[in-house]
Amino acid sequence: MTPDVIVVGGGIVGLAAARELCAHGARVVVVERRRVGEEASSAAAGMLAPQVHADADTALLDLSLRARDRHLRLAEELEAETGLSVELSSLGALDVALTDEDERSLSARVAWQRGHALPVETLTAEELLQAEPNLSPAVRSGALIAGDRRVDNVRLVRALAASAVTRGVSLLCGRPVTALLIETGRVAGVRTGAETLRAPLVVNAAGAWAGRLGGDPDPPPVEPVRGQIAAFVVAPALLRHVVWSARGYLVPRADGRLLAGSTLENAGFDKSVTAGGLRTVLDIALEIAPRLVDVPVVDTWAGLRPGTPDGWPILGAGGVPGLFHAAGLYRNRILLGPLAGESVAHLALGRPPGFDLAPFAPTRFRVPR
Ligand SMILES: Cc1cc2nc3c(=O)[nH]c(=O)nc-3n(C[C@H](O)[C@H](O)[C@H](O)COP(=O)(O)OP(=O)(O)OC[C@H]3O[C@@H](n4cnc5c(N)ncnc54)[C@H](O)[C@@H]3O)c2cc1C
Repeated sequence: MTPDVIVVGGGIVGLAAARELCAHGARVVVVERRRVGEEASSAAAGMLAPQVHADADTALLDLSLRARDRHLRLAEELEAETGLSVELSSLGALDVALTDEDERSLSARVAWQRGHALPVETLTAEELLQAEPNLSPAVRSGALIAGDRRVDNVRLVRALAASAVTRGVSLLCGRPVTALLIETGRVAGVRTGAETLRAPLVVNAAGAWAGRLGGDPDPPPVEPVRGQIAAFVVAPALLRHVVWSARGYLVPRADGRLLAGSTLENAGFDKSVTAGGLRTVLDIALEIAPRLVDVPVVDTWAGLRPGTPDGWPILGAGGVPGLFHAAGLYRNRILLGPLAGESVAHLALGRPPGFDLAPFAPTRFRVPR
């Protein structure tokens, strides 16, 4: 059977795209180099946080707010289809100020968000310590962003994969795509080493590797940006909310772990956990919740975010007919993953994507020839 669409990459974006393509009657094969969801989509901390740092009215903020809404419905759909809960938390996120400078920028951000009708509640130090007694006593003030959520991204990827397979998607794992197959000026499939897989449409959802598919005449400018995370286990839980400072975050998980993150490093495709990276992450954690000083660190890891020159995703038609990019999701894009994948799926099928994708078009980076 020749598929209608090949999706390259089985992360959150590729799986969401494949699931949506199948829902519209397409025959879809996901070709994944390793196992589904093993890269950035599992390394993430799982915050769905479009609002926490919002201070400008942009197309990306609009897309991110829509994406947060999409997660609410998706969690229900996935649970109904697969029986798997993605552990979407209904508690909001706290943004806390620990220095003078933090307070100044937090109050400017809160004022901007209020002016743009985004729900946000300011909290005094006393109110914060009442809500989260294990926060640092040095906390000065903060904000509760009730709409920002968290999800267990590992469970989310698992549920997306299960749902996609139930809908008819074929997953080919352990098969690195080495090149696009181009015939008579358009995409005709992909090569995985000596093997050729044919399809008239290809969606590039290869994460940090999206710019490195051989044969792409106009590769998207995606580069890896490393992030490191440390996980504590604390019982009883030290925090209930996701807590952001100006320097990083702590994310409580339903399984009793507390994740601290993260770094932003240009280290190529090196996923090492380093002493310097861990120091940064542990400093962030201890500044927010000094009681963590006696808590064991049970795990550490690093992942590669798909970075782009302007930090915005690359969503739309590629440089050769039949090729579509769902790439460059960068930071905070577990949030964007499902909506981005689904929108590009619609575009590939010639359907309206549901909102204006022009600000995210790959053409913004194209150099005239
Ligand atoms: C430390 C860290 C913390 C983060 N925290 C958050 C957070 O809290 N909230 C949030 O919203 N976002 C967060 N992110 C960002 C988020 O993880 C990414 O934006 C998102 O997972 C990108 O998804 P993706 O599907 O594009 O990439 P990936 O999950 O990396 O998937 C790409 C897939 O393509 C496959 N692939 C690559 N090349 C090929 C090839 N040639 N052939 C076949 N398959 C190929 C890879 O193996 C991989 O499985 C975080 C990221 C990191 C690293």
